[in-house]
Amino acid sequence: MKAAVYYGPGDIRVEERPDPKCERGGLVARVLCCAICGTDLKLATAGNPRCHPPRIIGHEMVGEIVHAGEDVREFAPGDRITLATTVACGECPYCARNLGNMCPNAKPISYDYDGAFAEYLAVPPLALAGGNVISVPDSVDDEFAALAESLSCAINAQELAGLKPGDRMLIVGGGPLGALHAVLAKAIGAADVMIVQRSEPRLSLLRKIEGLTVINGANEDVSRVVSERTSGLGADVVIVCAPSRQAQEDSLQYARKGGAISLFASLPKGDADITLDSRAIHYGELRIVGASDSRPEHVKKAIELMASGKLDLRAIVTHRVSLDDIHQGLELMKNKQSLKVMVYPSGRPS
Ligand SMILES: [Zn+2]
Ligand SMILES: [Zn+2]
Repeated sequence: MKAAVYYGPGDIRVEERPDPKCERGGLVARVLCCAICGTDLKLATAGNPRCHPPRIIGHEMVGEIVHAGEDVREFAPGDRITLATTVACGECPYCARNLGNMCPNAKPISYDYDGAFAEYLAVPPLALAGGNVISVPDSVDDEFAALAESLSCAINAQELAGLKPGDRMLIVGGGPLGALHAVLAKAIGAADVMIVQRSEPRLSLLRKIEGLTVINGANEDVSRVVSERTSGLGADVVIVCAPSRQAQEDSLQYARKGGAISLFASLPKGDADITLDSRAIHYGELRIVGASDSRPEHVKKAIELMASGKLDLRAIVTHRVSLDDIHQGLELMKNKQSLKVMVYPSGRPS
């Protein structure tokens, strides 16, 4: 089969690999499509010591089961599935607290197991046992299902930030995840979803999503817009999706008293110290929360929301490429010309 393989920082090759074998208690799925994640882009540029080369990358997938291993009861050939990427150990104190996304022994698919930028993917038995395989109902399109994993990270963050129906929300950074946060917040019933982006063409891609207040951070006064739209109060929830120190430091001034700020995007290791006004946190009773990755329950929730028809994901996938053209897809992400780029291992759909 054909696959995109990580050999080291900046070195991703599309090449022939043997078809994966189906393990006892595992599955093999034919990959229908797989979205490019920001972490794939990091591998393609800076690399990541957690990813062990040579490794087939890609994890935001939807597939159709072609083999179900011995002992597998809940899935059968023909079923469509998507994955929660982080395969937790199930035995550590974090797993015991249902915090598998914090599991120190976790083995993410596409880091420790081969991923889905390939024609076929083997699902390891531990992933099945951990509930990482989520079935996709007929009513959910392939491309939407492939967005479930990234959406699940937004669901985790919005739950931690305590976003409620009727809330006014500000998203700083309108890349693929910022856009997914926006669509999710609208589905949850946020009264106003404001999103800041500085660069074209992402601004024009965001304007295609219905019902958002798109703020051009390059020439609009973000504080003023937020203040005007919240009767001078500030946003109930601020989600910082831009991996920028300045964006994290500025986030406090956009939140209302008693509001929450989610530091969703991480800063580079060793370069992540920021300065915050502790009086604003103290007197304003602000909650500053982190958010990292997601758990199978969040992926399940993403699929349920898609099946309910409440999520308008039509404007999220902006580009489609074949596996042979994955570098072109990575380039679109790098140059901020796209929101989500979908990779089709068996050739791009017409
Ligand atoms: Zn991802
Ligand atoms: Zn664990």
